[in-house]
Amino acid sequence: MAKIILDPGHVEGYNRGAVSGYYEGTAMYHYAYRLADKLRAAGLDVGITRTKITDNPSLTARGKQAKGADMFVSLHSNAASSASANGVTVFYSIKRNADKPHATKWCNELAGLINGGTRARGASTRKGSGNWDYYTVIQSAVAAGCPHVFLVEHGFHSNKAECAWLMQAGNLETMAALEARLICDILGIKSSDGAAQEPASMGQKMVNTPGDTLNVRDAANAKGAKLGELKDRSLVEVYGLAGNGWVLIQQGALRGWVNGKYLVEPEKTFAPYIVRVTADALNIRKGPGTNYDVAGCIRDKGSYTIVDEQDGWGRLKSGAGWISLAYTTKAGDAGTKPELTRILKLTSPNMRGEDVRWAQERLNELGYNCGTPDGIFGPNTDKAVKAFQRANGLSQDGDIGPKTWAKL
Ligand SMILES: [Zn+2]
Repeated sequence: MAKIILDPGHVEGYNRGAVSGYYEGTAMYHYAYRLADKLRAAGLDVGITRTKITDNPSLTARGKQAKGADMFVSLHSNAASSASANGVTVFYSIKRNADKPHATKWCNELAGLINGGTRARGASTRKGSGNWDYYTVIQSAVAAGCPHVFLVEHGFHSNKAECAWLMQAGNLETMAALEARLICDILGIKSSDGAAQEPASMGQKMVNTPGDTLNVRDAANAKGAKLGELKDRSLVEVYGLAGNGWVLIQQGALRGWVNGKYLVEPEKTFAPYIVRVTADALNIRKGPGTNYDVAGCIRDKGSYTIVDEQDGWGRLKSGAGWISLAYTTKAGDAGTKPELTRILKLTSPNMRGEDVRWAQERLNELGYNCGTPDGIFGPNTDKAVKAFQRANGLSQDGDIGPKTWAKL
């Protein structure tokens, strides 16, 4: 049975990330156990250098545990003073040249996954003074006689986007499946039932090609042999990403690589709806959670249209950001025609409301330009109403009463 030692770097609470709550030494500890589950499912004997989250063995002691193992992998996330630094580096030993192609493939595939595709900084060695590996943990594992030794930097925790990506359980699950498969490939393990051979689906995409069909190939480039074709607008499951933009997909029994530029997000079926804010002051944030920056504040207890939902947060149609739906009540579907309870017309100050917004959207759809549907009845809306009335044989007073409303 092949044996591997996983070495989650550092110790609990060590190396704070750009997003509050992330610590490299804590995150990599939990990740090591997730990866170990996948490897054990594929039939490997897995040891972990930290048996408790508070363990912090010396770098030499960590490497020494590689004695008798077929592979040693030290797990890290990277940091730099520049917040924009990003990407994946896979280090291997100056004494293990044969590991270079493995490290290169690892780097490319991992970079293709993290944060939807980040920079592949490459396979690297680092030499200390003398003929030694700079990284003590690599040096010590090689000295113990281990044939495959790697230190993997899983993106930058000093980069806010990559750090946030590393905090999502679903991403870690997919990353563990990918790394388990890479490890099994290096060790020549072909498990028929192991989780490592069947990484979790990364979700669905839709084929969007200028032609009628998209070729599926047996390698991640245009020179790969053609395995079959996908129909335009059909859905596929995504199982992996190569660093060069090619994507591993499956549709029915057909599994292979396609050029990722011909895959798009499936069309969303989300039906927008209207909420009424119940809090006196409700923060608008740049993303769906309190860990995102505040972009504004709603103080009018007004009605707002929600066009997307995530984790109990709703995205505002205006583009201003996201609000917590816990402080709102649902007021109706945005697509349905509201009841007309007043005559809508140009007044000073301007009339406002969802009824005005609905009329603006409908007029725009019909080709009478009101500008951005903002729910405010201004001069452009007045002009559009008059043009609509003229074209429909209604009296051109610019007022939306029951007759105009019925025709809209
Ligand atoms: Zn580290």
